[in-house]
Amino acid sequence: MDKLHEACGVFGIFGHPEAANMAYLGLYALQHRGQESAGIASSDGRRIHLSRAMGYVADTFNTDALAHLPGRAAVGHVRYSTAGESRVANAQPFVIDCWHGQIAICHNGNLVNATELRHELVKQGSIFQSNADTEVIVHLYARSKGASVVDAVVEAVSQVQGAFSLVMLTPDRMLAVRDPHGFRPLALGRLGDAVVLCSETCAMDLIGATYVRDIEPGEVLVVSESGMRSIRPFGPAPLAHCVFEHVYFARPDSYVFGKSVNEVRMNLGRILAREQPVEADVVVPVPDSGVCAATGYAEASGIPLRMGLIRNHYVGRTFIEPQASIRHFGVRVKLNPVRSILDGRRVILVDDSIVRGTTSRKIVRMVRAAGAREVHVRISCPPTVSPCFYGVDTPRRAELIAATHSLEEITKYLDADSVGYLSLEGLLSAVGEDHGSYCTSCYTGRYPVEFPRDEVGYLQLALKLDKVEKEPVGG
Ligand code: SF4
Repeated sequence: MDKLHEACGVFGIFGHPEAANMAYLGLYALQHRGQESAGIASSDGRRIHLSRAMGYVADTFNTDALAHLPGRAAVGHVRYSTAGESRVANAQPFVIDCWHGQIAICHNGNLVNATELRHELVKQGSIFQSNADTEVIVHLYARSKGASVVDAVVEAVSQVQGAFSLVMLTPDRMLAVRDPHGFRPLALGRLGDAVVLCSETCAMDLIGATYVRDIEPGEVLVVSESGMRSIRPFGPAPLAHCVFEHVYFARPDSYVFGKSVNEVRMNLGRILAREQPVEADVVVPVPDSGVCAATGYAEASGIPLRMGLIRNHYVGRTFIEPQASIRHFGVRVKLNPVRSILDGRRVILVDDSIVRGTTSRKIVRMVRAAGAREVHVRISCPPTVSPCFYGVDTPRRAELIAATHSLEEITKYLDADSVGYLSLEGLLSAVGEDHGSYCTSCYTGRYPVEFPRDEVGYLQLALKLDKVEKEPVGG
């Protein structure tokens, strides 16, 4: 499907007799945040054990693999990556052994000064084994002359810029770090006496943990047998929570940035109905991404909500088209129209975003072919016009349909009767009173974290060229 992709999900648990099993379940709940690779590192109190592989969480771990991850603490990671970067060397956690001892690192986000730092480190003799920007943190940590593990972590993360929600494990400690802008979420919870960390609260729900609070932007939390302590090594910085977590990435049953994703999405739909009204017979969500917003749209407009598209939930990435030369299945493998709902009706089709427009066009045509008289596309966020540099996989600018086409051209391309986007003001009012604390760069092209010298070139390249080769990739 033509969607932006969240780059990673992270999980950590400290002080639980079945830590690796809990990490497995936590990652299972976070699978939507990354499907290319999964990994868990556990600590038995003396040393760290690691298991990581390409593939889904359920395929990567079995009882045997989990049995080889002993101890009362574990951290885990799920990762999405683009095809060329899909290799096990980039799978996390990264585990290293250096003069500070062993450490496992899981990273969600993207560092904007990774290239510059990497060049400098390579010049000084560092040997990199992956092209993930996270490895820069690993090298900075290993080279630190800090007197303690915590000092070395603080020294390392103080040198990187951009988006980083980190969960780390040493033989006797778990650490959480969130960048001072708070781009990506990171929640703290409790499961009995155990401490839990995760990208989204849906992971806590699965293991029966209770949400306590978010790790605050700029906070370093250290968890050990003697309790928890917080350090705030960063200077003040404007907040920039990723608003797209609410629009699309996070699961609707999660709380991110302290808010119910479902509630925000319902608000997006309600405001969209007020901003982009149209006479119609049914509101139809594009499942699953458009369901919450469509519910809000239907509620505010008084037009009935109908599930006019049914999603096949069992399609994995392993689907091979039999006899592809005979028939191209395309989007039909994932979605099928319900003719009895669509035939002869004026349809409002609600989705969360349009990236390239290719899938949306197929869906509009599918709805028309099922007999719809009119198809009005409504999108619960503003036009996506700029790439993300903070941990989300976006195509180059030239591929974003809204960056290169007018609304009229998009409507024509999609074969729709009308297309209406939510305004930026509408989006921000849906997230609530603290809307000044959100990043909206993919809708505005204004980036809250400046790009150091090398990254200006990186940004320009990403905006203008087809491919940015050999750049570090986010986690
Ligand atoms: S640019 Fe968009 S996707 Fe990236 S962090 Fe900002 S709001 Fe999120």
